[in-house]
Amino acid sequence: MNLTLGYLYPDLLNLYGDRGNLCCLQKRLNWRGIDTKLLSLAPGQPIDFSQLDLLLFGGGSDREMELACRTLPALRPDLKAWIEDGGVLLAVCGGYQLLGACYPPGKSWDTLRILDIYTQWEPRRLVQDTVIDSPFFSSPITGFENHAGRTYIGDYAPLGQVRSGYGNTGSHGYEGLLYKNLLATYLHGPLLPKNPEICDYLLTRALERKYGNGIRLKPLSDEPEHQANAYMVRRSRRRFPR
Ligand code: GLN
Repeated sequence: MNLTLGYLYPDLLNLYGDRGNLCCLQKRLNWRGIDTKLLSLAPGQPIDFSQLDLLLFGGGSDREMELACRTLPALRPDLKAWIEDGGVLLAVCGGYQLLGACYPPGKSWDTLRILDIYTQWEPRRLVQDTVIDSPFFSSPITGFENHAGRTYIGDYAPLGQVRSGYGNTGSHGYEGLLYKNLLATYLHGPLLPKNPEICDYLLTRALERKYGNGIRLKPLSDEPEHQANAYMVRRSRRRFPR
């Protein structure tokens, strides 16, 4: 078995260690004897989505996101079709925002608009270590958020409920979203080393899409990861509900 992991615009969209998500995906596959191929996908480069099993779409500063918008719209039809077909996508913060419409101050960006969501910028940045409880995962999800955008997700299922931190809007108490095999979140950290359950979830989805249902990944000990997670949960400031 093998998986091809892609990283969209790695030189532009790599905030707060987002690239570490790719290292985590690769490492956890290799520990189970599963080969990986990594693809760095640069702006303007044609992408053959049929060759891609899992894609990372990281966060960026407003300037970098604006640069990404010069070439992103060309990917819209193929990326949308791939997502609809169950392609596994992890989108973090800026990447999450760019999947929908974006309204930064005084600008108009030509974003992907694949999801029916929008992000409105506000002057106050939302910066904090974050803990969320998700109905899709047994452990609390921990990470770090730093964003000026507030993302309104309409009827999509949120990834979870904010226990500590801000999440999508800072006022609704929800964080991220899940749609098919697309997991979008504001959480950097990087996310996956801090939350190995999410990493294995994405890997299982990608393997099942390629090789058929019933894939059981060999369990790993994850003791240091669980200790780190428990530590962050203990020191988190409870924010929701107020
Ligand atoms: N530039 C975006 C914002 O401030 C995204 C930031 C990020 O990816 N952390 O909202």
